[in-house]
Amino acid sequence: ARTLRIGLIPGDGIGREVIPAGRRILESLPSSLNLKFNFVDLEAGYDTFKKTGSALPDKTVETLKKECDGALFGAVSSPSTKVAGYSSPIVALRKKLDLYANVRPVKTTIGSSNGNPIDLVIVRENTEDLYVKEEKTYDGPDGKVAEAIKRISERASSRISTIAGEIALRRQKIRSAAPTSIRDQPMVTITHKSNVLSQTDGLFRETARKALAANKFSSVLVEEQIVDSMVYKLFRQPEYYDVIVAPNLYGDILSDGAAALVGSLGLVPSANVGDNFAIGEPCHGSAPDIEGQNIANPIATLRSVALMLEFLGEEAAAAKIYAAVDGNLDAGKFLSPDMGGKASTTEVLEDVLKRL
Ligand code: NAD
Ligand code: MN
Repeated sequence: ARTLRIGLIPGDGIGREVIPAGRRILESLPSSLNLKFNFVDLEAGYDTFKKTGSALPDKTVETLKKECDGALFGAVSSPSTKVAGYSSPIVALRKKLDLYANVRPVKTTIGSSNGNPIDLVIVRENTEDLYVKEEKTYDGPDGKVAEAIKRISERASSRISTIAGEIALRRQKIRSAAPTSIRDQPMVTITHKSNVLSQTDGLFRETARKALAANKFSSVLVEEQIVDSMVYKLFRQPEYYDVIVAPNLYGDILSDGAAALVGSLGLVPSANVGDNFAIGEPCHGSAPDIEGQNIANPIATLRSVALMLEFLGEEAAAAKIYAAVDGNLDAGKFLSPDMGGKASTTEVLEDVLKRL
């Protein structure tokens, strides 16, 4: 049996209710999968900051680096006004562990407007583009001028495109184990604005094309889409897409937009991925308005657990979780309040566990 060491970082608010659900589903996987888990409880977030003066204690980072194969991150609260010394622990973690890809699948079990289910994933480059935050402001002849650097490198564009191609191949495998989709060929859509930004986005486009032309991707259909028309098509025809790869800024915007296609934030997972590490993280925040009531939807977290497992090479285990979650949603009997149901966090979890 393989033993995976998983760091658990609940963070604040409902993170403390959904991360235990994530642990439970890992512990409940069928023994035929031959998987064992060691869990390490780790601290981060605003409450940790108030207690220790740091939102991301060194011990958390060191333990993840030295003792863990992957991790689950719940959510953290951010103070609404700037607090000296506080900065987001997840942003810092992405940097410290070189988690260069942000992966966000968006999936429905019921049909979209055209009657077909949505089943796509956005793969966002997470280290460069305008987010290098090299800005300056100066006085021009007609008042202040502000400028920002948009940096695109061959290395980052190549590795994000390669991971997008690998995700497309793997999704195809998982789909053929439990066919729910209309798609039979994996596809990657490269998103850019190289008609205007011929050098920066031009380099992204060209590098992505090159990376996806590798032999191992010969079965992957590669398309491209200018980002503004991408937004239009994503909303008109979301069921068309499989994997969408984008530079940081477009990926940020597209992935929040795509999350709106499925109704509740409580359903949308994500993963922060590097070459040797993956962190599963629900897309929602700490939801102080529903904290402590056992009504948070655990599904975004359960799907994040599956996504983490995919990147740790455990596709069969991931497929089991995806199928159990889809079964719960299809049956519609144990849905949490954000989905129009009456079930508690615990009841949704128990129903999913029964379907494993
Ligand atoms: P939020 O995602 O916490 O909540 C938005 C709305 O969605 C709320 O009404 C909430 O009740 C609901 N919701 C979210 N997750 C849900 C779930 N699993 N089940 C049922 N309902 C759910 O966003 P917000 O209210 O803007 O932010 C609250 C706090 O979370 C802030 O401090 C913010 O900074 C932080 N935040 C953190 C992250 C993160 O850790 N990645 C992301 C977004 C917001
Ligand atoms: Mn965002």
